[in-house]
Amino acid sequence: MKPLKQVSDLIPYVPGKPVEELERELGITGSIKIASNENPLGPSRLAVEAALKAINEVNRYPDGDCFYLKRKLADKLGVNESNLIIGNGSNEVIEIIARTYLSENDEAIYGEHAFIVYSIVTQAVGAKHVVSPMPDLVHNLDDFAFRITEKTKIIFLANPNNPTGTIFKRNEFDNFLRRVPDEIIVIVDEAYFEYVDDLEYTDSLQYQQNRNNIVTVRTFSKIYGLAGLRVGYGVGSEDLISYVNRVREPFNVNSIAQAAAEAALDDTEHIENTKSVNRAGLDYLIEHFNKMGVKYTPSFTNFILINLENDPMPLYNKLLKEGVIVRPVGGYGLKSHLRVSIGLESENKRFISALKKVLNK
Ligand SMILES: *Cc1c(COP(=O)(O)O)cnc(C)c1O
Repeated sequence: MKPLKQVSDLIPYVPGKPVEELERELGITGSIKIASNENPLGPSRLAVEAALKAINEVNRYPDGDCFYLKRKLADKLGVNESNLIIGNGSNEVIEIIARTYLSENDEAIYGEHAFIVYSIVTQAVGAKHVVSPMPDLVHNLDDFAFRITEKTKIIFLANPNNPTGTIFKRNEFDNFLRRVPDEIIVIVDEAYFEYVDDLEYTDSLQYQQNRNNIVTVRTFSKIYGLAGLRVGYGVGSEDLISYVNRVREPFNVNSIAQAAAEAALDDTEHIENTKSVNRAGLDYLIEHFNKMGVKYTPSFTNFILINLENDPMPLYNKLLKEGVIVRPVGGYGLKSHLRVSIGLESENKRFISALKKVLNK
């Protein structure tokens, strides 16, 4: 039986290699995974406690409306509950918006080396892909605006972008928005929002008062350390959110995830610790990349893209043999790069010494 044409053409998402799989294949132990931009400190203690409590009631369906989590988030973000959709990861939020608005006759624009989920959801609904080139590995918002046609329905922007780690600045976003008609939805994916420390960075939530076509998407998977529980959210106009909520399945976010996410929001200490471990780790890696002459793209996130200026797979495989899992990004059109997540101090050291060894430096 043949699936839909757009589905048979869909290229499957390739996740980072699990530690267990590597150890099984090579018969080794004690390897590290710095491949999926996870929080190396683990989840917040408060979130774990809340999750353990919630597990006692999993005979019940979860709250389909995520009442308490929405209330707390609304309060924190300064929006109303009616502006929020909670998803099974922010990935689901992005997908539901596409399913709500994007048809086969529409076009979606995204960056050449942007987060791959935009391409997947565009393909899954059979819409036309419009790709904005990224020769400098950054989003060129002028080029995005230039590619708008009367068929454009959704524009996907990742800020910061994964896997490049780059951001676009406030003035670029301002100029861009002036050229975007109200009928086009601009999804701003801010999965790494909490990590960014730059005065020119733009928080897309701030634009929502004046525009009803912007959706801000964030997640509990990255700095909050809850990737395995799958919780993310979107913020947008009441009207848009009400439609998107009709499309999502009624119990899309499980009760353990809701409880943990709510508790994680209170753990500001965990967030601050995570940021400082990340900052120190990023500085450490950069210092050693500079010493070794390894090229990299300056990062605003918890990962960094390195450029080996050659097929990176032999190096990737040698690192695996050293018990270090990083991430190839060929699927993102980056044929000479690897993406490295910032780990704990011990993991960063382990990675650098493995890298020195395999590069003979
Ligand atoms: C990791 C990531 C996500 C988040 O995915 P979840 O589904 O929330 O785990 C979204 N966007 C980008 C750019 C990411 O890197």
